[in-house]
Amino acid sequence: MARLIKPPGKFEILGILVGLDGKNPLQLIELAGRTAYQSYHKISPGSAEKFVKMLRDRGHESVLEHSSMSVQLFNVSRGFTHQLVRHRLASFTQESTRYVDKRELTLVLPPRRDPEEEIELTLPGGRKLNITIEDWANLNEQVYRELRNRGWVPEDARQFLPIGTSTQIVITTNFREWRHIFKLRCAPDAHWEIRLIMVQLLKEVQKLVPVIFDDFKIAEDESYAVRKEGS
Ligand SMILES: Cc1cc2nc3c(=O)[nH]c(=O)nc-3n(C[C@H](O)[C@H](O)[C@H](O)COP(=O)(O)OP(=O)(O)OC[C@H]3O[C@@H](n4cnc5c(N)ncnc54)[C@H](O)[C@@H]3O)c2cc1C
Repeated sequence: MARLIKPPGKFEILGILVGLDGKNPLQLIELAGRTAYQSYHKISPGSAEKFVKMLRDRGHESVLEHSSMSVQLFNVSRGFTHQLVRHRLASFTQESTRYVDKRELTLVLPPRRDPEEEIELTLPGGRKLNITIEDWANLNEQVYRELRNRGWVPEDARQFLPIGTSTQIVITTNFREWRHIFKLRCAPDAHWEIRLIMVQLLKEVQKLVPVIFDDFKIAEDESYAVRKEGS
């Protein structure tokens, strides 16, 4: 039986780049940024937060590129990852449907949609067939399994997998690009699946590195996030 899962998928922050001395990412960015002004002598406890906030607020975002974050995403759909990989400044590694067998099919359901909802299909010849979304998912799984049982390799059988098929991906990119991704993908007009997970990830990074991300405001019901007025 195919598994139907509700969004959002899960994420795990794999790492955030800090200096070799184990300094926090803000100190790394401060060190790089102070090269411009030759003001290393101003480095003191708490100076990194102020300095990085100044850079961010003035729009000197290139300096934020000196630290980066890697995130692993689970139980997101191929549709989701197709959107994510459009971000050209990021690096990705994704589960391969050419090599990994998808006989245990897992699909990401749209929120608020009932897997028991019935649809009427018309078969060639005009015969009507009523099936639920769940039946349709199971039929997809059966088609894939049958092709694999007949000796089709995964890279051939995958042609018949739906775009809602779940997948895993790792993304690494710098903080400036993460800000760009959050701006586009947490916005009210972004697709629900990427928006739901990106808002949760934003919430998490606002705790870890607030100065980089706290100019985004998350809606009370956490359904979207936007840059705060004037920032
Ligand atoms: C709500 C929404 C709807 C969308 N709908 C569609 C759609 O219908 N069809 C579709 O094809 N796509 C669609 N997209 C994807 C969109 O067109 C972008 O491909 C995607 O959002 C990546 O954004 P980007 O190019 O700004 O960012 P990135 O690739 O993340 O790049 C970041 C920034 O770097 C700069 N940059 C990167 N590469 C270049 C370059 N080659 N030249 C100059 N500057 C560069 C730009 O300033 C860019 O904003 C949609 C995106 C959103 C958020």
